[in-house]
Amino acid sequence: MPAHINEQAVEDTYRHKGMRRQLIGLLRKKGITDEKVLEAMETLPRHFFLDKAFEERAYEDKPFPIGNEQTISQPYTVAYQTALLRVQKRDKVLEVGTGSGYQAAVLALLGARVYTVERQEALYLRAKKLLKGLGLGNVRCYLRDGSKGLPEFAPFDRIIVTAGAKEVPEALLEQLATGGMLVIPVGDPVQRMHCITRVSDTEYQDEKLAAFRFVPFLKGLEKED
Ligand code: SAH
Repeated sequence: MPAHINEQAVEDTYRHKGMRRQLIGLLRKKGITDEKVLEAMETLPRHFFLDKAFEERAYEDKPFPIGNEQTISQPYTVAYQTALLRVQKRDKVLEVGTGSGYQAAVLALLGARVYTVERQEALYLRAKKLLKGLGLGNVRCYLRDGSKGLPEFAPFDRIIVTAGAKEVPEALLEQLATGGMLVIPVGDPVQRMHCITRVSDTEYQDEKLAAFRFVPFLKGLEKED
């Protein structure tokens, strides 16, 4: 793996590893077949990204609160979205909605050059510190309104949105490389996963997939609310 985690950062015991292996088995049963994604998720200790109070439950296939009314996505959702992205090594990937930093770390383990944006300062600061502590130097964190993307680093080979959007932000479509893909949950209050491919300068293909329920995609930085 091009990126590896610094296992000294937090304790990852045989028990944690065992629970993780069971979770990966469950994801397989639920239909996830992308071996690279499953391997990355088996490598990455999810309990590092959760409050100590949830450590025992970190390998349940459930979302959990991470503070500021946000949640770390359910492992199945992370696996589903990441598999759709079909990340290649060295791909430039934009994630909107850093949250705990878990999804960004999964992308980094797949060898992507990750740019992740978060609108809430407390979450941004915590994820940035955690990812650095894990030795994931290929993740860059930004405190921004993700609906505007990151124009200075565009185009991106892949873009993933991990909050439920009412519509697809125009800026994200513009910042996609030709041949690139945007995976975004769209709808209110339930979202359908959309996988949008930029086939040429002006043409996009939009595939609507399974239904999910995400925390809302909000405009502006949290301080401006
Ligand atoms: N990928 C995260 C999931 C976090 S939940 C993880 O692995 O833990 C979604 C996150 O999107 C929340 O932290 C929320 O604050 C953030 N968010 C919502 N709207 C946003 C926007 N416009 N720009 C950036 N982040 C946004």
